[in-house]
Amino acid sequence: MDEILEALLSGACISGGELARQLGVTRAAVWKQMETLRRQGFVIESEGKRGYRLVSCPDTLMAPVVRLGLSTKWAGSEIRYFERIGSTNREARRLAQMGAGNGLTVLADEQTEGRGRRGRGWLTPPGEAVAMSVVMRPQVHPSHVALLSLSCAVAVCQALCEVTGLEARIKWPNDIVLGGKKVCGMLLEMNADEERVHDVVAGIGINVHQKVFPQEIEKTASSLDLAAGQTILRADVVRAVLRQLEAAEEMRQAGTLMDRYRALSATLGQPVRVSGPAVEEFEGTAENVTEQGTLLIRAGDGLREVLAGDVSVRGLMGYV
Ligand code: ATP
Repeated sequence: MDEILEALLSGACISGGELARQLGVTRAAVWKQMETLRRQGFVIESEGKRGYRLVSCPDTLMAPVVRLGLSTKWAGSEIRYFERIGSTNREARRLAQMGAGNGLTVLADEQTEGRGRRGRGWLTPPGEAVAMSVVMRPQVHPSHVALLSLSCAVAVCQALCEVTGLEARIKWPNDIVLGGKKVCGMLLEMNADEERVHDVVAGIGINVHQKVFPQEIEKTASSLDLAAGQTILRADVVRAVLRQLEAAEEMRQAGTLMDRYRALSATLGQPVRVSGPAVEEFEGTAENVTEQGTLLIRAGDGLREVLAGDVSVRGLMGYV
């Protein structure tokens, strides 16, 4: 299917016979695949003997469509698309273990077992969102891996500013909010030994077209379309995220990431409540994010430091 789509995306009018020859299949098989693409929303004209011509693409995350116009160095170096998957992170981790290269990206139209932090669920309804996991092979010591999570937050935040034209912000550590509501959650999973990080899988879930949310999250969740008041194409979102991942990683290597992170933070300066299974709930004002990615909170009894893996931080006035 990818080969036929790639041929159509080249913009040329291609004859069924020529395509069949190139792919080593029958003309009937080519016709069948064209019908499948049409059912998926691709508008394809048949111009008699001259062949098939692509008129328009639907909102899809299929690899050839995402690759079109993508000019990154490593992010998205290989793209694997699934119409339906349990978890893009699980698949990316499996591929990483089999030796997948830096930047391999798993995309899914629907994710049935998406996960958030601390074992919580992440919803990715079919056709409405982006579920993506990027395999990264950074040269970092395991003790510095928290910074990668902040690097991904900066990347996605900048990507969402770019595609919506709005001021997306980061809720510590790495949720992205628009208008004070969560449009993106992330889960980074690392495979490392004491000295070396072998790979990190950055799982990124972005709400794009949802108009309504289940009751449990309706007060805190939003989507790009709702926030921007227009339809945002999911392939544009993925391309922007991949491009910005490279930009944020360059900032991390140059030592300028944290300044950018702080400038994009929605949490700093806010009154917050901290909770978590192993932490007694307390309130304070978010004062700083350290170079190690921990959050410093000015509480009644002094300055307290919290780690991303341990706690949930909510605004006292609202979600942020
Ligand atoms: P918080 O509880 O403050 O949102 P968190 O960072 O601990 O933060 P994540 O692990 O990022 O949470 O995400 C899991 C939570 O996000 C779930 O428990 C659920 O409440 C919420 N959630 C699940 N799916 C979505 C979605 N598509 N959009 C927004 N929120 C969602």
